[in-house]
Amino acid sequence: MTDGTNDKKVRVRFAPSPTGGLHLGGVRTVLFNYLFAKQHGGDFVVRIEDTDQTRFVAGAEDYIFETLKWCGLTPDESPLHGGPFAPYRQSERKPMYKEFADKLVKEGKAYYAFDTAEELDAKRKEISNFQYGHAIRGAMKNSLTLSAAETEGLLAAGTPYVIRILLPENEEVKFTDLIRGEVVFNTSQVDDKVLLKADGMPTYHLAVVVDDYKMEITHAFRGEEWLPSAPVHVLLWKYLFGLENMPQWAHLPLILKPDGNGKLSKRDGDRLGFPTFALDWIDPKTNEITTGFRERGFLPEAFINMLAALGWNDGSGQEVFSLDEMVDKFSIERVHKGGAKFDYEKAKWYNQEWIKKLPVSTYQAQVKEILAEKGIVANDDNLEQVLNLVKERCVFLNDFVEQARFFFKPSETPDIASIQPKWDEKKNMFFIELIRAYELSTVWEAADLEVEFKELSAANQLKPGELMLPFRIMLVGGKFGPGVFEIAAILGRDETLSRIRHVLSLL
Ligand code: GLU
Repeated sequence: MTDGTNDKKVRVRFAPSPTGGLHLGGVRTVLFNYLFAKQHGGDFVVRIEDTDQTRFVAGAEDYIFETLKWCGLTPDESPLHGGPFAPYRQSERKPMYKEFADKLVKEGKAYYAFDTAEELDAKRKEISNFQYGHAIRGAMKNSLTLSAAETEGLLAAGTPYVIRILLPENEEVKFTDLIRGEVVFNTSQVDDKVLLKADGMPTYHLAVVVDDYKMEITHAFRGEEWLPSAPVHVLLWKYLFGLENMPQWAHLPLILKPDGNGKLSKRDGDRLGFPTFALDWIDPKTNEITTGFRERGFLPEAFINMLAALGWNDGSGQEVFSLDEMVDKFSIERVHKGGAKFDYEKAKWYNQEWIKKLPVSTYQAQVKEILAEKGIVANDDNLEQVLNLVKERCVFLNDFVEQARFFFKPSETPDIASIQPKWDEKKNMFFIELIRAYELSTVWEAADLEVEFKELSAANQLKPGELMLPFRIMLVGGKFGPGVFEIAAILGRDETLSRIRHVLSLL
């Protein structure tokens, strides 16, 4: 199977409905679209599918664009970025859709349905598994059951109506999915979807097909949950435009709960204590906050790398990929059909790898902010050095608080309890002499400080090993951190000596 590209310029779209925060599955859809487009020198379009006004959530669109910005997945065309196929919000394209619905009615491929909400409800109660389709439509109030004159009369009287697609009975609809191969549906299993609503707005099904056509979309990659809608879309493509320019479809595998039992939801994240959104999302109705990967201390590089691995690998065993490398190596045929289990420990591993891999200058400003929020004023002169020294120990950006705090602020509660049991006058004398020796040091560098320390301990017939822990606790406050002489080198002479003196006074 090929990836369906030919001489046409590749154009992909991400088509979210602004109904809430963007789940990580949505971001992975963006990523795969983006990778494919960039690999083929194509365009990545973002179209906002806001035809269902009842589900509209304020702030959701801004949130989507902020997420894309954080991830570094910049659209070529969108309501925000403009483009030759504007407008990119379906609500602003409303007048464009009706002619297509009317055309379908005229050609007998769609029909008017006048059933009221009450009538539909009554039928749903009466018939289990009610599906407005070939078995039922004959018993409903629509232009197939009414005479032409009755239909005309209702329309002329302004009776509310919807337009439904007329699905042929027991026909096979086939298409080739770039991930799944040939997919076949029987039309009898599908209902006559509404195409145009009573308010004149198209439904998603009509709008998605009309817009993919008008925006010259060549490839449509979307979540597996849209697979059941695909036969309706394929039929609409056939009826409205012939199948020639239909995009190549790819339905991406679901992201599953960690135990593999079903689709990963926001609630799973809340229950198991991990984020499922890229950024913090505050539900405007309930004010409920859903934590994002960004606010948890993830780097965008790690976040998208982890997302790509949920369903794709390049077959070489390589796991850490930059966005550019992914653009280079991605292939839609290597995306698995089966669902991908979300593994938070693995997500953390990616973050740790990326914290180590990136130059600290990439995240220094952010760490400085995180430190400031904890009341730690980091000094720019040595912040980069400090971050380089401790980055190996950080899984999240927030871990820099614990790992780097003592460079900027002496511990208020040094762990003297760990020194006291083995403390004696000999050790006390050693540190008093160390202060004197360090006061006179001509160079203040880790290697020299270590040599002086060891020479002095030998002269005092003490093992350096016994003195290291007290020294660490004097400088750090606890039993952690990088090499103690490197710490002293960064702290500088005055601060190092003042910390030794302070702890000595407590012992
Ligand atoms: N508007 C649909 C959504 O919210 C888009 C599905 C598609 O890409 O066709 O996900």
